[in-house]
Amino acid sequence: MTETVSRKKPGKPICGARTRRGTRCQCKPVRGGRCKLHGGASTGPTTTEGKAQSTENLKRARAALNSPLHAEARRERALKGWKTRRRAAERRRLIELGRQAGMSAWWFVAVEKTW
Ligand SMILES: [Zn+2]
Repeated sequence: MTETVSRKKPGKPICGARTRRGTRCQCKPVRGGRCKLHGGASTGPTTTEGKAQSTENLKRARAALNSPLHAEARRERALKGWKTRRRAAERRRLIELGRQAGMSAWWFVAVEKTW
């Protein structure tokens, strides 16, 4: 799914890595397909020790995400999602009620504005 050809300049290859903005990196790729900022010519660890260390680092990073240290952040995200869904449900309910009651357009405008 990663695009590696520029949209602005068709045929021009780009790095295509996902950026923090969620867009595709537009940099010029070096050999390996990515630009110098996104792995570039790197082909990953080559030695046995390097590969083992890489696996170890990945395991530690994954474990950290599930640690109690991040529990609070997880709860906050879950709560935020729940609030958002509840709000959306309330909004749909109000729109449906308005429809059933044959409310005029201003009702839906008001719901859109306040919910
Ligand atoms: Zn890049």
